[in-house]
Amino acid sequence: MEHCILQVALDTPLDRLFDYRWPLPAPGPVTGDTVEACAAPMPQLGQLVLLPFGRQQMMGLIVGISDHTDVPEAKLKDGLELRSQLPPLSAQWIALCRFAADYYQRPLGEVALPALPRNLRAGKATSLDRNLKKLAKLSPALDANPNPEPPLNAAQQEAVDAISGTASGNAGFAAHLLYGVTGSGKTEVYLQAAARILAQSEQAQVLILVPEINLTPQLETNIRKRFSGIQIATLHSGMAEGERLQHWLAAHLGQARIILGTRLAILASLPYLKMIVIDEEHDPSYKQQEGLRYSARDLAVWRAHQLGIPVVLGSATPSLESWQHAKVGRYRKLELRERAVKDAVLPVVKIINLEHEKPAEGLTARLIASIRLRLEKGEQSLLFLNRRGYAPVIACDACGWISDCTRCTAHLVMHKLDRKLRCHHCGYEQRIPHHCPTCGNIDLQPLGRGTQRMEEGLKLIFPEARVFRIDADSTRFKGSAEAAFDTVHRGEVDILIGTQMVAKGHDFKNLTLVGALNPDSALFSQDYRASERLFAQLMQVAGRAGRAAQKQGGNISEVLIQTRYPDHPLYHALMAHDYDRFANDLLEERQQASMPPFIYQALLRAEAKDLQTALDFLHLAVNCIAHAGITIHDPIPMTMTRVANVERAQLLVESVSRPALQAFLKVWIATLRGLKSRVKWGVEIDPVDI
Ligand code: ADP
Ligand code: ZN
Ligand code: ZN
Repeated sequence: MEHCILQVALDTPLDRLFDYRWPLPAPGPVTGDTVEACAAPMPQLGQLVLLPFGRQQMMGLIVGISDHTDVPEAKLKDGLELRSQLPPLSAQWIALCRFAADYYQRPLGEVALPALPRNLRAGKATSLDRNLKKLAKLSPALDANPNPEPPLNAAQQEAVDAISGTASGNAGFAAHLLYGVTGSGKTEVYLQAAARILAQSEQAQVLILVPEINLTPQLETNIRKRFSGIQIATLHSGMAEGERLQHWLAAHLGQARIILGTRLAILASLPYLKMIVIDEEHDPSYKQQEGLRYSARDLAVWRAHQLGIPVVLGSATPSLESWQHAKVGRYRKLELRERAVKDAVLPVVKIINLEHEKPAEGLTARLIASIRLRLEKGEQSLLFLNRRGYAPVIACDACGWISDCTRCTAHLVMHKLDRKLRCHHCGYEQRIPHHCPTCGNIDLQPLGRGTQRMEEGLKLIFPEARVFRIDADSTRFKGSAEAAFDTVHRGEVDILIGTQMVAKGHDFKNLTLVGALNPDSALFSQDYRASERLFAQLMQVAGRAGRAAQKQGGNISEVLIQTRYPDHPLYHALMAHDYDRFANDLLEERQQASMPPFIYQALLRAEAKDLQTALDFLHLAVNCIAHAGITIHDPIPMTMTRVANVERAQLLVESVSRPALQAFLKVWIATLRGLKSRVKWGVEIDPVDI
């Protein structure tokens, strides 16, 4: 029998392709005038194939087909089953995975296979076949029949024209930085630009990424209202596997025209992709923080460039990387300076000096008075505290004991409602002790405040108000976050207390007061990005206020920031709503200090049972290769050194040249692989937490 050799990518840490034998379809026996084809299907590039691997079976992606192999005959194995019912993944999609694999220094298979729904990689094809049948029934008669679009203001119109290439009649590659204050109608720009792109060809697909799962329902509703008859797929990590496969297939088959998702959707197969939108492009959650540590935003720009299509990066506080790109003209800046709703204006930002005004229950008298004004007028207030739980730690006054996690460099957080002490890093939990484990003192005190404690305090101060908390604890169950946000939208909440979950994107119409309770800690973080992030976070949460026109006799919308550092330039920039200056100043500082985006970085992390082993490995790593032109810093323990009894250390590598850094990393990583150390290590490109 004739055979061909399949070169496949497999999800293994081995950085190479694997060869397998596959029988070629031979012409069948001649019966009368007809030649019956043999049953074996002809393999194609981009197809999935089930393979024997060691003692198990694995799904592989065919990335090459050849007529010869260097694998000796005796060792060569046959492929088991070709998923020929699934249209092959495109060459562009494989190129995207290959780029990500190269750039993030991972084997192709570790990028491509995990990007596919799990059910597609399963040994049995039942789920795939069932879903393909379901979709085949769905694909009749969908017509693009958009509901009326609201008229755009001049700035929005200019943005839509630029993105959809109205002037040239053709939207080629361009990276647009849509820089618009909160409530300036960026979403409307995305939707109308999408409508134009979808109208340009019958198959066009548009990908819209949002930073948080919780933002998908709101946007999905808006999209459905606008685009009746268009199939929409959603892709995020909160979906059940079956559901995920169905949506992924709808995108892969080209049936879904709008794909809405979180960062993982950037690796979806979208054969007719014509535009990408990254909403809140500055958001840290676009960076995957485990496994393949990719930036969905950076991959989006690459993908758009590869396909020659526009990508829109929207934000009120763009990342300094994007800001710099816009400055040097690599990205086109489109600016929306005003709020879109008539008579809706940006809130007034005020500082409350905690040195002068002592808070009760975490609230100063001025903030309490402002909340009261909202209650009187039937308006909503939002209090922002980026710390969940009741108290960040409990302590014993008598002997100085505090609730530390024995497995991590972290405190155990007090959760009063379920009477637990819980580690937010390793998941360890125990009952709150009745007495001090060291000295027996029964008077253990909670220190500091989390959202649960704030909720308790607010209920005491405002017994008549409807106080509502939204954080990761209150929205643990599937669908509960959506239900919680609906409660706020329906107006059944007077005072909302929440973490960053409530800060992002939500269009609360009746909210006129935002209080930031305790934002100072980020000002002095050793993470040099902390102030950029804090500014973005406060600007975003501030942007939840005053999104509708002020009601007759209603309150002017305000943002009150409680701080011990009222003169900090960050707060001044916030009061002036002046991101331009803030960003330019930060960029200047970064340039002077040779920090990103003016230098390129990679981080080598090592994990071991004891810290010295991890550090020893990093020292070995420094010395195992010549590194002219590359700066390698000293190995150091990570800020949070221990997590779940694993000690962690890191080594920062820098260069002013990205190609030089990439070339160095390639050789270095190969050398490190050869060291055969038992230390668990990994390299992160463009690290954000260092
Ligand atoms: P952003 O994403 O910039 O924060 P949104 O897109 O959520 O802002 O828009 C804020 C509000 O402005 C929404 O209620 C939206 O419906 C409204 N809006 C947007 N564009 C217009 C427009 N051209 N005319 C009237 N209202 C608009
Ligand atoms: Zn004690
Ligand atoms: Zn822990």
